[in-house]
Amino acid sequence: MASDWKSYEPILIPDIPGLEKIDVYEENGGYEALKKVLQKEKWSPKEVTKEVKAANIRGRGGAGFNAGLKWSFMPEPDGGPRFLACNGDESEPGTFKDRKIFEYNPHLFIEGAVIAAYAMSITTIYVYIRGEYISWVDMFQKAVDDAYDKGYLGENILGTDYSVDLEVTYGAGAYICGEETAMLESLEGKRGYPRVKPPFPAQKGLWGRPTTINNIETLSNVPLVINRGADWYTGVGAEDHPGPVLYGISGHVNQPGVYEYPSGVPVMDLINDVAGGIRGGKELKALIPGGSSTPVLRADQLEGVTMNAESLREAGSMMGTAGMVVMDEDTDMVDVLWRIAHFYHHESCGQCTPCREGTGWLEKVLIKIKNGEGEIKDLDLLLDLTNQMEGRTICALADAAAWPVRHTINRFRDEFEAKCKKSVHAVA
Ligand code: SF4
Repeated sequence: MASDWKSYEPILIPDIPGLEKIDVYEENGGYEALKKVLQKEKWSPKEVTKEVKAANIRGRGGAGFNAGLKWSFMPEPDGGPRFLACNGDESEPGTFKDRKIFEYNPHLFIEGAVIAAYAMSITTIYVYIRGEYISWVDMFQKAVDDAYDKGYLGENILGTDYSVDLEVTYGAGAYICGEETAMLESLEGKRGYPRVKPPFPAQKGLWGRPTTINNIETLSNVPLVINRGADWYTGVGAEDHPGPVLYGISGHVNQPGVYEYPSGVPVMDLINDVAGGIRGGKELKALIPGGSSTPVLRADQLEGVTMNAESLREAGSMMGTAGMVVMDEDTDMVDVLWRIAHFYHHESCGQCTPCREGTGWLEKVLIKIKNGEGEIKDLDLLLDLTNQMEGRTICALADAAAWPVRHTINRFRDEFEAKCKKSVHAVA
């Protein structure tokens, strides 16, 4: 993408004072997409799904799957309950963008969720918010109450025969509850254990009924597509991953924060022009581009890389949640990797042996290396462990734990070998 991203005006979190209030949202065109679908143009549910599918809104929760395509997996209504579970449990280190929507533009998300619910003939929407975001839960509940008062939620929405309820709930601090089927278990009041798939949630989700799970930012894109059309949407940003993106930039930058720009912005522009460059005038050393599970990239791998799925894949990483963790030249990569490994070990739910034991071993060996007691063969042991973990478990947490270990060691091998003092001495 050329530098035209610099003239982009935010639409997910625009700078409109008081936009979280329903009156201000309405004054700025809010709920027009819902009115267009239900009242003015009376779209059928299938027409809504078709348009959203054509827009190729790629899931912003990390998986990057086409949202409209996901909706199309729901079976035909049979008169029984059907659910939309909205995932606002963002807990991955480096990811903190959905809370901006809860705080600054909650009605955009509510509007998107109701349109999605209509498209799939959903009877109840659940919004599952990260437990640590308790203040955001309260803020969001106020927005929901106001939407009910104005007739955008509840019985006979906008005077039509479509009705849907929205219930706000929140987690209790477990990262695993952001995994879609663990979230369903948690919503059912059970321990957040991921489920074996198949059956997939569209066939057998909440209480055994058809359920679709979408991320908060993903659903917030839906009103944009309805108002402006799929053709407009696919023209924003990168072709393979269109639309606006909330980039959460953290780490050693001068101005960390959540910034909205189209997809496909050059990584170095985001670091230098948007986030104010590296703190203290230091050099960039590494970047985790999309939350802690996405493979780290060295500074010399970032030349010409843009923030979209294809470019990041070619560079050897992933878009994930666009939660960019920037690290300067003083960063100790062994320490970084140990901290990430500690997180996944702590958050493993323990159902699968490769994950329960593997995450523990990863952390243990990394502590040994960190303490200067490691040997070169420990690096190979770590890499072997990642091979034993990946693709062998119920959910993707084991993969998420394995990838950073594999790629950080491979991309910063010298640094890890230097810490393995015993072997270094032995070789010398
Ligand atoms: Fe639990 Fe890990 Fe298995 Fe996922 S991979 S179900 S977190 S033990």
